[in-house]
Amino acid sequence: MKADTSLVDLFLSLIKIDAVSGSEKPVADFICDYVRNLGFEAHVDDAHVLSGGNTGNVVVPVLGGGDFLLMAHMDTPRSTKGVNPLLLEDRITSDHTTILGVDDRGGISSILWALRYAVEHSMPLKPCTLLFTVCEETSLAGSCAFRPSPQITHGFVFDSHLSPGCFVSETCGAIAFKFGIKGKSSHAGVAPEKGINAIQLATEGLRHFPFGRISASATANIGIINGGTATNVVPDVVELEGEIRSDTQDEGEELMRRVITDFEKGAVEKGGSAECAWHWDFKPYRVSAGQEPYKRMVKLCGALNLKMEGVKSMGGSDANNMNAKGIPTINLGVGAENPHSTDEFILYEDLQTAAWMALKLMTEI
Ligand SMILES: [Zn+2]
Repeated sequence: MKADTSLVDLFLSLIKIDAVSGSEKPVADFICDYVRNLGFEAHVDDAHVLSGGNTGNVVVPVLGGGDFLLMAHMDTPRSTKGVNPLLLEDRITSDHTTILGVDDRGGISSILWALRYAVEHSMPLKPCTLLFTVCEETSLAGSCAFRPSPQITHGFVFDSHLSPGCFVSETCGAIAFKFGIKGKSSHAGVAPEKGINAIQLATEGLRHFPFGRISASATANIGIINGGTATNVVPDVVELEGEIRSDTQDEGEELMRRVITDFEKGAVEKGGSAECAWHWDFKPYRVSAGQEPYKRMVKLCGALNLKMEGVKSMGGSDANNMNAKGIPTINLGVGAENPHSTDEFILYEDLQTAAWMALKLMTEI
């Protein structure tokens, strides 16, 4: 099955717009024009205040906004400037000098095309809200800043590399942390006893740090370490950055507290100090079979004859922020293969199926 020409054209138009995280305005303008031409209202929210980018999220309330969200993100992790798409037999790829931009212009195309299709075929639309977010790839700032209206009860994100029919029903959460370990500088040869070596202080905490896989549900890593100025100077500051991933908020925060205690104890015992700044990059979620998006997904896959599978992911998406706001949301596979690499591709069949999924959710399921 090939995809409808107008869907492929829409996808090609969208990938040619260069809009990395924080620079999504041209995509936002495109979407606003597109939906206004179809007779819908669109507005841009103030997510740029949090993201620091050049536009907020685009919000399209269809028939009053309804009780569910259809979402995709506008940014790409790398530039698509000069993208040269190759339309092969079964798929679209780039010429491998740039990414294709399938993540997540594939998702945007599916939703916009479905809206046009419904209008052009006079299909009655269900009230819903289309949400196109900023800075998903960097900080999830768009979905974090979005303020849903109180009637929104659930959502669907069109942004997974999985095949259509598969979806992310649960993910771990990730805490990002940064330690500043402080000692005291001194000449390492002339007066080492007057110094307190911050690197040495850090080793105390590092000795206890639970590197790697802690349990079936948690991992921890320190990925960046910075400190010191010269080999003959006792360093006064060292900084360490890392992450903790966990399936539950309680476990993640308990692990974080334990790590902080270890670093503080190790530093204070030797006359220094340790400070930690941490936050949830994204919180864990789990949408169960009894919840609305899951139930609708069962019907959707039945109607489209798709093999359905809910899977767990170790990565975050806009769905995590929606779930954290109390809106059960799943991340649907749209077949965006090899995301973020110059080998990105999408099968015509998957692009079309994702668009049918959006259409069914908008009109009947
Ligand atoms: Zn994405």
